[in-house]
Amino acid sequence: MPTSPPTNDASHAAAQRVIDRCRKLAAFSEYPGRTTRTFLSPPMHDCHREIASWCAPLGAEVRIDAAGNIRALYPAARANAPRLVVGSHLDTVPNAGAFDGVLGVVIGVALLDALHGKHLPFGIEVVGFSEEEGVRFGTPFIGSRALVGRLDEELLRREDDHGVSVSAAIEHFGLNPAEISAARLKGDILGYLEFHIEQGPVLEDLGLPLGAVEAIAGQSKLEVTFVGRANHAGTTPMHLRRDAIAGAAEWISSVEREGQRVPALVATVGVVEAKPGVTNVIAGEVRLTLDVRHRADDLRELAVNTLIRAAEEIAARRRLTMKHNALLNQPSVAMDPFLTGQIEAAILRTGCKPRRTVSGAGHDAMILAEQVPAGMIFLRTPGGISHNPEENVEVEDVAKAIETGMHLLDLLITHPLCKGE
Ligand SMILES: [Zn+2]
Repeated sequence: MPTSPPTNDASHAAAQRVIDRCRKLAAFSEYPGRTTRTFLSPPMHDCHREIASWCAPLGAEVRIDAAGNIRALYPAARANAPRLVVGSHLDTVPNAGAFDGVLGVVIGVALLDALHGKHLPFGIEVVGFSEEEGVRFGTPFIGSRALVGRLDEELLRREDDHGVSVSAAIEHFGLNPAEISAARLKGDILGYLEFHIEQGPVLEDLGLPLGAVEAIAGQSKLEVTFVGRANHAGTTPMHLRRDAIAGAAEWISSVEREGQRVPALVATVGVVEAKPGVTNVIAGEVRLTLDVRHRADDLRELAVNTLIRAAEEIAARRRLTMKHNALLNQPSVAMDPFLTGQIEAAILRTGCKPRRTVSGAGHDAMILAEQVPAGMIFLRTPGGISHNPEENVEVEDVAKAIETGMHLLDLLITHPLCKGE
């Protein structure tokens, strides 16, 4: 595997500190010995206290907004200056690794640290979002939605498995849901920047430490059901069967072929539930889920339609009935072309080859992109492993990410919004 160009001792030390800090935050968990930190669970207080203790000595003003996001504002050299927002999320999936989300927040703090007290023509607000994974309420991005004014009454009323609403969770954490509107981004925003582990094997496969994300893929989720007739596995001859599971299997193969046929398309059947699910009974009904993602919405929709037609054809030929319903139809979100170009230039300045990439997973950046120019930098993920305690990052890659961030700050000084009095 080609390694990244050498880093100097200072950036290596800064990167090691980022990794140590991520590991320290990973210990703040709902369960001892593994990392699980859902929306506004008690260990989030420990995270906030720890991050505040890093930011305050750097001269940042730290607050927790009413959605439970930690916000550390490092002031600009002058009043009424624009702001660059740098962030990611602090919540985790159950039994998580130490870097998904957290790394982006800790690198944000490392950028403030690397300024050594220097103030820029723009402020830098480091944000640790309270919720991105959707674990507790089944709805992702609760934290980042608050910044764009989309943490609304309907979402505040939503309940977790224990009947606790988002609003009540906010109160239990010691915050006031009536102040949600004050969490919205105000003033001139240069952009939103998110460092995140790639959570996939592409950069590692290419031998590259960093990627500039140009879009977050759109996503379709469907439920597909084949219905045949349950019958005796011993007495029903093959030609007289209406076997729902055999039809489903044929269709699963079509899904895989479609994913392989269309460049950059990913198509997955993640759930297969057969009824009655008995060894000596031909399955009468099979429920499946389909997940299709692509950067181009038209190609994604075309693939979904092709697969529905394939399911209909298989069902008709096998004397089955087929029904389908859409669970999600989420368009692709483009990152800001200007910011992405600046990120590429910044990566190039570190001596690394910038690689444009598309995120197959959703991120806070796609919520922020609704209102401000958003950009993302992916870090190579060893083994492509994430949402797993084995999730890791290379210290050299983190060093290159910090260097990229510093070059980017430098490039943004000439941004037109910074030309005010
Ligand atoms: Zn994440």
